[in-house]
Amino acid sequence: MNKKIYITTPIYYVNDVPHIGHAYTTIIADSLARFYRLKGRDTFFLTGTDEHGQKIEQAATARGKSAKEYADEVSAKFKALWDDFDISYDCFIRTTDENHKIGAQKAFETMFKNGDIYKGEYEGHYCVSCETFFTDSQLINNEYCPDCGKITTLVKEESYFFRLSAYQDKLLQWYQEADDCVMPKAKKNEVINFVKQGLRDLSITRASFDWGIKLPPFLGDSKHVLYVWLDALVNYISALGYGTDEKNFSYWPASFHLVGKDILRFHSVYWPAFLMSLNLPLPKHIAAHGWWTRNGEKMSKSKGNVVNPREVAEAYGLENFRYFLLREVPFGQDGDFSQKALIDRINSDLGNELGNLLNRIIGMSGKYSNYELDSSFVLKFYEKDIKAVDAILDNVESYMCELQTNKYLEELWKVLTIANQSIAIYEPWVKIKEGKKEEAGAIVALAANLLAKASILFSPIMPKTAQTIANSLGFKLDTKSYEKLIINKELLDKTVITPTAPLFPRIEKELMNTPEPTTQEKEIKKELISADKFFASKIQVGVIVKAETIEKSDRLLKLLVDIGEEKPRQILSAIRAYYDVESIEGTQVCVVANLKPVKIMGFESYGMVLTAEDKNGIALISPQNAKSPGSTVK
Ligand SMILES: [Zn+2]
Repeated sequence: MNKKIYITTPIYYVNDVPHIGHAYTTIIADSLARFYRLKGRDTFFLTGTDEHGQKIEQAATARGKSAKEYADEVSAKFKALWDDFDISYDCFIRTTDENHKIGAQKAFETMFKNGDIYKGEYEGHYCVSCETFFTDSQLINNEYCPDCGKITTLVKEESYFFRLSAYQDKLLQWYQEADDCVMPKAKKNEVINFVKQGLRDLSITRASFDWGIKLPPFLGDSKHVLYVWLDALVNYISALGYGTDEKNFSYWPASFHLVGKDILRFHSVYWPAFLMSLNLPLPKHIAAHGWWTRNGEKMSKSKGNVVNPREVAEAYGLENFRYFLLREVPFGQDGDFSQKALIDRINSDLGNELGNLLNRIIGMSGKYSNYELDSSFVLKFYEKDIKAVDAILDNVESYMCELQTNKYLEELWKVLTIANQSIAIYEPWVKIKEGKKEEAGAIVALAANLLAKASILFSPIMPKTAQTIANSLGFKLDTKSYEKLIINKELLDKTVITPTAPLFPRIEKELMNTPEPTTQEKEIKKELISADKFFASKIQVGVIVKAETIEKSDRLLKLLVDIGEEKPRQILSAIRAYYDVESIEGTQVCVVANLKPVKIMGFESYGMVLTAEDKNGIALISPQNAKSPGSTVK
């Protein structure tokens, strides 16, 4: 049976430029796809960008761009990086693609017709930054987002709901029956505990912003757009033509959805529930990896220590970076990036173990046999070494299938160690002196065969390095060689070795400058004030009870503002051009209440009303929901 393989990365949200976390997920997925292709499996590898939602709309507006322009720009950055990194994706999907929109609408319509979607009213604490609603009990200090710590707002709006609650038992049953459906195990248990606490129906549309996919036309409801998570998750099937051209749909269900641990819940709870509603098979594995720190510290833009994958690859080489990422951390755990750790891996694992082995084989074969490589006598003299290695290789692939790339590489490096040791132990230079030419040749061929076998299996992780080794040892790096040398445990045909330059020149010092804050960050730092300084201003909510014009001033209005004191305060404000006296009365405003009184055009002003100004004029700042006069603003 040659079942198809379907591997996905998350689609990356275009509010951010690519960082090491994105590179990590994508490189694992790429290695996995290359691994299955090597094994001759028909493989489809999907990546792409997630482009809708309020956060994108806001980020675009802040940059004076349309949401689509902004999404185009950031999406192109991701695509360019993956192209430069030679990522072997078969499809790069964008949620602004027309066929994705059709697929998402089709999914909504199908779930609706299956009775899993109904209209209701949503009230919740919404975090704009995470685009997620939270319940009272989830908030920190009753108002802050439990995920990002930012302040949430109370939102009440009409919304369509997905009957997630109806899928609680089915999900629990699935977790129980499908062994590795969520990987690693510890994460799976977290998911199970979350679901056991009870699932609430999920609000899946928004009416408060526009930048999203409209509901399917049959509903005749143009007020709503799809909630970004429904929109985003459907990409995994729309990319295969769900709702449009389904010729690639035979790749479904996904073999591996690779995700960061922060988005595991969406993938392991909502997504399978949506699929159950759509009557589609469920993914085989949803695999969550950990996060990266830098030199033991959390990465953040404000610290200026975010690892830029392009910079690392340019300084240290893409293949070395790939090896480091997949070798350094057990899948699912957090990893730490440091130049020191990377250099150690390059100099020791890659330089000493791998690079030197190739050099020694080239050197010895040149000296002893004019670069001819003949495996005919390997089994006669060194069968037990070959057997030991074949035993390792029999078990190694399961590590890759379980995404334990660090174990996988560790095992392959054991093969290289055996090869290096066999040269040291059997001493071909002694054999030559003793006139045992066959034996000396067999030692070189033994080492070359072990290197070839290891190279075939690490080629998914370091494709270019493996290709260079294959060229040098004179074999083809393809599925046929995999079957011959790995599956059938055969040895290399007679070949001629081609000398090649050392693969991993020693790195003596760090090649990247320690991150320096950018000029913009320095400017921001110069302007920073302490919280104490800010809280020295006493800002309170007030309500305008009366407004009058002032003779001889076309800028000022004289306001009486109730800020919860005995009587309203008189405050002058330069808003006359934007507000008229009748309609402004009753408006809530924010007042700086502890300013020294000033006299303007003959009138005392006891405070300042806060406004915002751009090229279109001035607007008063009001609390989003009415607050009682005197409420503190902070
Ligand atoms: Zn948040």
